[in-house]
Amino acid sequence: MASRLQVNVGGVPVGGGAAVVVQSMTNTRTDDVEATLSQIRALATAGAALVRVAVPDRAAAGAVAALVAESPVPLIADVHFDHSLAVAAIGAGAAGVRINPGNIGSEREVREVVDAARELGAVIRVGVNSGSLQRDLRVREETDPAGALVESAVRYCTLLEGMGFTDIKVSAKSSSPLVTIAANRLLADRIPYALHLGVTEAGTRWAGSIRSAVALGVLLAEGIGDTIRVSLTGDPVEEVRVALEILRTLDLAPRGARVIACPTCGRTRIDLEPLALEVERRLEELGLDLEVAVMGCVVNGPGEARKADFGIAGGDGEGVVFAQGRPVRKVAQAGLVDALFAEIASRKGTPPSR
Ligand code: SF4
Repeated sequence: MASRLQVNVGGVPVGGGAAVVVQSMTNTRTDDVEATLSQIRALATAGAALVRVAVPDRAAAGAVAALVAESPVPLIADVHFDHSLAVAAIGAGAAGVRINPGNIGSEREVREVVDAARELGAVIRVGVNSGSLQRDLRVREETDPAGALVESAVRYCTLLEGMGFTDIKVSAKSSSPLVTIAANRLLADRIPYALHLGVTEAGTRWAGSIRSAVALGVLLAEGIGDTIRVSLTGDPVEEVRVALEILRTLDLAPRGARVIACPTCGRTRIDLEPLALEVERRLEELGLDLEVAVMGCVVNGPGEARKADFGIAGGDGEGVVFAQGRPVRKVAQAGLVDALFAEIASRKGTPPSR
């Protein structure tokens, strides 16, 4: 897949061969600067390189400058229905705006947004969703939902190009993973701009993660997608964790900590799930690029535990800790995780974790 035209979103390169960028969106009231900043920081710490904030009214637009001043990552303003809010957000330092040109106002008003973006170096994301297509495309949507989304996005790109503006990212989102996949495949052929991927209204943490992983995974594996957002109902930090895991799974991000755990079976004589969850939690805190195997028994356990950097192979209420391919010691279940992390600390120079 040919690489896309690169845009610079407040210093973060998107497209043009740059690493795929993880984004998320705050769900605090944007005019509650303290709460929003706290969430932006949490998202950045979790791995979001860009954060979007909703700008639905004057109060939110008025908060953008304060947020930009303190935010550790570039901010993108999400604006609908009122072009003057987009202009205000750009003026306040937003690195980009996400608009749907179809609902932001007249052509003259779109041009005002474009002029502000051009003057201040902001990027415009043309964001079309299956729920908000132009009237004439709604009929086509009934039989060709992906084609209708793409047509809508291409029309808006053409509109911005006609204004001499090409610092564009494009997203075409549907709540259907299959439509999202089809639309972005078509878009990748039709336009040269960086593509932002996401399944809109994907759902709750469990179902939304799976829907997003399937749609984004297929596209990213085909080389389509320059920035991604996993939309989940709930704490957006979870969105970032899922998005990063999708990228790691496809070797599109450094692997980080990875726990290999067996599914357990009738041979298991150790309570493995809490062990695996505890290992995962503590490993994530260490932030090391490490593979740790947590295995239930002696059948596959020692083999997997030896291949990983570290591991536990369970026995009957106890287990063997492995480090760099060798069994180190046998420990009762209650002390296994502590023994594993003591081993990691002694060999990796990490602080003891709890
Ligand atoms: S590693 Fe052992 S306990 Fe785990 S699934 Fe395989 S055979 Fe069962």
